[in-house]
Amino acid sequence: MTEAQSYPLQDWLNRIRGLNQWKQGGKRAPNKPLLLLYALGKLHNNGNSRVVFESDEVRLKQMLEDFGPPRPGGHSPEYAFSRMDRDRIWEIDTSDGASPAVDSRRALIEANAVGRLPDNDEELLKSRPELLYQTVQTLLRGNWPDSLHSEICERVGLDFESVLAGDTAVVDTTADSAASGRQAEQKRDPDFRPQVLRAYEYQCAMCGWDARLSDSSVALEAAHIRWKAYQGPDDPRNGVCLCVLHHRLFDRGVLGISPDLRIKVSQDFNGRGRPAQLVIELANQELTPPQASGQRPDEQYIHWHQTQVFKSPARVPH
Ligand SMILES: [Zn+2]
Repeated sequence: MTEAQSYPLQDWLNRIRGLNQWKQGGKRAPNKPLLLLYALGKLHNNGNSRVVFESDEVRLKQMLEDFGPPRPGGHSPEYAFSRMDRDRIWEIDTSDGASPAVDSRRALIEANAVGRLPDNDEELLKSRPELLYQTVQTLLRGNWPDSLHSEICERVGLDFESVLAGDTAVVDTTADSAASGRQAEQKRDPDFRPQVLRAYEYQCAMCGWDARLSDSSVALEAAHIRWKAYQGPDDPRNGVCLCVLHHRLFDRGVLGISPDLRIKVSQDFNGRGRPAQLVIELANQELTPPQASGQRPDEQYIHWHQTQVFKSPARVPH
């Protein structure tokens, strides 16, 4: 690849990484990454990335509720929609050609605002589908734990298997990519999982699931309390051993833990069947602690999960 060909690609990847780095003090800010994923899904399925604010607003808001941090007053998709042009990743077309007022939902609707990727970037991504997949992976890894990636892809109309397969095809040629790029984001300590599983004696700390297929644990995982995407370390004190169901619910903010290691269940969670009732009954139960006190979940990570992931308020059992 010549330098002239590689420049737009590097420029694109750098802008995407810039978007991921927009995090302050561990506060989750997934609005722009979610909007971009939504636009990439459109580009993949429709051949163009056009997002019409008025008609797509409801879906964008629901995605923010489901995959964004808890926000008791509700999420506002207009923030990212009207601001992402500053990241040189987004353009807004309006019926009168004027820029609508920033953060104003009404102004976006009245102006028939349509957001989209710049033409050059659209062309680049259309000519190189693997770059689209890598962009999706970079956004997912930079903002969410692995357990949520397939669900987010499905929501924006992208096939997660293709994203995984296509991701490996792009060669990143920047000299500093190894330090600042996806290798760094992906890096994880191989000891984390075995350490956490051993600490909890190979059972889910919430329900006691300890099933094995022959000699190996099955459907049992080491969950990060503070996500890796938000500098959560691979330290057993930032981990808890959970079955796949409780891991997913923990990452979606349905379940949480309190500093005194009791299980919290969100009041937003509901379901009538017996399996959902079993989750609801976890409210205020004690989390099975790790075998050694030095492996107990650390309060600073619990605090991060409580403020950035768990959908408050918690249920109070009768
Ligand atoms: Zn469980």
